[in-house]
Amino acid sequence: MANKRVSLVRKCKTEDGSWKRFPVAMSANGRVKPDTVIADGAEQVYPVGHYELRSYSGSKLVWTVLTGGATEALAALKVARKRANAVALAGDAGVQVVLDPKRVALRDAAKKFSMAAFDRGSKEASEIYERTLEEFLTGCNKTYADELTHDDILKFHGQMRKRGLSDRTVHNRHQALRSFILTLGFTVEQVKAITGSRAPKFEKTMPEIYEPDELKTFFASLESDYDILLFDLLLTTGLRERECMHLEWADISYTHKTLQVKSKPRYAHKIKDSEEREMPLTKDLVKQLQDYRKEHPEGRLVFGKLGGMVDEPDGHLLRRLKGLVKKAGLNCGECSTCVSSEGVECGKWFLHKFRASYITALLRNGLDLRSVMALSGHADLESVMRYLRPAGGVEVQKKVNAIRWR
Ligand SMILES: [Zn+2]
Repeated sequence: MANKRVSLVRKCKTEDGSWKRFPVAMSANGRVKPDTVIADGAEQVYPVGHYELRSYSGSKLVWTVLTGGATEALAALKVARKRANAVALAGDAGVQVVLDPKRVALRDAAKKFSMAAFDRGSKEASEIYERTLEEFLTGCNKTYADELTHDDILKFHGQMRKRGLSDRTVHNRHQALRSFILTLGFTVEQVKAITGSRAPKFEKTMPEIYEPDELKTFFASLESDYDILLFDLLLTTGLRERECMHLEWADISYTHKTLQVKSKPRYAHKIKDSEEREMPLTKDLVKQLQDYRKEHPEGRLVFGKLGGMVDEPDGHLLRRLKGLVKKAGLNCGECSTCVSSEGVECGKWFLHKFRASYITALLRNGLDLRSVMALSGHADLESVMRYLRPAGGVEVQKKVNAIRWR
């Protein structure tokens, strides 16, 4: 099997004295005809010149000067083709062949990098790294770390924007890629030269929250106890999606009216220390949980798969929400997701919006920042402060009127 990406050329001195590369001429028995090339479709002999291999390193065209005559050149071509085939085959099988052990092979390093995050217990980070690096490496087509340039990064930004990814996502993936590049053994200056000194900017927008009437209509549309419990819990505890899908009955205390958020080694679900917490539950929610458990005494997880039928973590809670919203006729019909999905999905409804609504409600009802930080499992105040937003008209008027000005 000949690998077309590797070929043999002869760089020769032509009639007008200039040097040009031509494909070599082959004889019928598969040998390289000495000093003979194909120029303008015909064989031509140029005695002054040398042989070169034409190949690629990633997408970069590489010329390798060969010493010796036609016989040596043919031998070199055969070896190079064999090697290129091995690399191509291994690539198809998802394996990276390290051609030069002194150089850092990008795909190898990328795999190690996302595995390391996984081993640390950062499953989500690991998934983000894997996706980001796969997209980046597919787009830039480089093999080794030392081939990376700033253009590769700019091209990556361009590709993401072309696909319609938000500025925030472009920013986040850039940071993920930068974290990876930092592990490739470059100096600080080199990293700066490759990634640029600043990450692409994004507008820090207010987290979206549900309006009271939206919630009213949504909850009124819910039919099953499972769904009412699920979304009431998301709204009144602000649990993250993964925290909610791994919530077990054993984490809930009816006596103390609390819920424990913690790692679940059983499901390989690991959270940071700052995310471990005890949450207060509303009286109504405790009652709801008790009633629900009475009806469904089996199983370990609160929200198992298929509406609680299978006692396994449900990774499709978002899909469930989207389905319920559509069924209830609550898709807005105007957002970009509604338009692009032709009404199948609405971008105005997503799980994190319950969490944002929860945190905003805590702040609006006068809870201090430190408590909100602890309740929401945030590691820093700055993340919580993103949820501080100007109150609406009537509320502001009431407060301003209540101040004793003099
Ligand atoms: Zn919509």
